[in-house]
Amino acid sequence: MTEDNIEVGCILMSNWMRELAHHYHSMRKNYPRDRLLIIFDIDGTIIDLRHMILHVLRAYDRVYGTRYFTKLTVKDIRYHENSVQKLLQEIKMPSNERERVLEWYATRRWLPETIFQSHRPYPGVLAVIRWFQMQPLTFVGLNTGRPEALRDVTLRSLNAMAEEYSVQFSSEMLYMNKNDWEFNVPFSKVEGLQYFQERGYRVFAVVDNEPANLKAISKADKDREILLLHAHTLFESSRRSVPKAARSGNYYDLTELIHEDELPPHIQFVWHGINDRLNLRQFLSSNVGWAEVDVRSDPFTGELIVRHDDFYKTPLMEDEELIPLEAIVSELMRHGRSIKFDLKEGKKLIDPVFSLVNDLEIPESRLWFNGYIELIEEQGFQQIKDRFPRSIIQCPIDFLTPLIIGAREKAREIIEHLRDWGINRFSLNWRTPHKSKVLSRMERWRCDVNIYNVPDLEAFLEAVLLAPKSITSDFNFPKWHYFGRGSGEDTIKYHYDLRKRKKSIKSRL
Ligand SMILES: [Mg+2]
Repeated sequence: MTEDNIEVGCILMSNWMRELAHHYHSMRKNYPRDRLLIIFDIDGTIIDLRHMILHVLRAYDRVYGTRYFTKLTVKDIRYHENSVQKLLQEIKMPSNERERVLEWYATRRWLPETIFQSHRPYPGVLAVIRWFQMQPLTFVGLNTGRPEALRDVTLRSLNAMAEEYSVQFSSEMLYMNKNDWEFNVPFSKVEGLQYFQERGYRVFAVVDNEPANLKAISKADKDREILLLHAHTLFESSRRSVPKAARSGNYYDLTELIHEDELPPHIQFVWHGINDRLNLRQFLSSNVGWAEVDVRSDPFTGELIVRHDDFYKTPLMEDEELIPLEAIVSELMRHGRSIKFDLKEGKKLIDPVFSLVNDLEIPESRLWFNGYIELIEEQGFQQIKDRFPRSIIQCPIDFLTPLIIGAREKAREIIEHLRDWGINRFSLNWRTPHKSKVLSRMERWRCDVNIYNVPDLEAFLEAVLLAPKSITSDFNFPKWHYFGRGSGEDTIKYHYDLRKRKKSIKSRL
């Protein structure tokens, strides 16, 4: 793709996912009981094959001790995987060596080890697939020009990279070219479409990077119901073949696909760090149910206050106002909101927080307590459980995740131990690797999980796709008109350029 193409793609891209959402909803309305299907091509649509090209060329350098491709990057690769000779023309090397590289490339590019090592998905695409797989009576099919011989390796490699998104592809939902490589792919794509239609699916969208394939699908779509989506990546066939009705894009933007109204109602949302009056005001103007406050004690008076950082990390600033916890919590109560107390200083805060809860008569169903096990300890959690057994009692479990995956029996023992203390919510940092695996194991153990430290709207939506019990977030989502300030960690808060309404900027107070 040339730089110009990228520009064009960017202008078009914001709309293709919105169009997809719109079309999906109208098809759902028209056919409430049908099994709706979106079909994805694989290469150039899900898989970014530039990584494969780079991998195979670098392997040549490695094996033959040459240095032709050391400076080559993915961004430099602007040619389709079937046109690597054009890329090689741009690299200085003797012509007989060029032939040798081409031959190397041709024999290696589809080897299983190449597929496993070098195939990478385009950003966002697996999240988009997950979203559709989560919707009722909605399915995702794959329709590829790859031949049948690659069925097993295709499924295994795609499922390996899709695991982190809880996405799974099955053999029945994969249609492959019955002929050999490159043999009449548009014809095979139409056969694939019919394969799914004959199985009772109503196809509502097809995503493919090759204009010729979309053209063939368009001709086969007699009812004009299929939204054609052109993945504007690298393609071989003429751009002029893209049907007029098709929508192009080169970025799978979840924030365009998923509307706020579609958030699953069973996930609890928590607005993180209501530690100042402005964030409180933003929170109260939202319909988010839970507010998290960071509880500490005033170093001078011992009174309960709200503040993220301790006074060692962030000494009291010159004009800093220490806001009493009571001021924030009584306001939250007045507005009927639920409160998550993050007991930053551990068990010494339990008694004073309990007496505040008592004074303000906060119902147990609206209480949530969070603290690190090293600060609250067994005795502290027992105390919370004895007093408010029906509240949410949470601790972070990031320290346990390697065991949850690698030593599950041991991890389960520890989890059961924590449950005996009263802990009934387990909190997981968004940045923890293998989140999806951890979540599915915790689900099997019937443990409720909260995801926290979600940096932006896109990550928030990806967290939603993992379907945890709750998500704690700064709600720094100007696109949805949420202007969360953040907790003030490291004295940093978000501010927004309202003329752009595009991104939040972190800055010091
Ligand atoms: Mg393709």
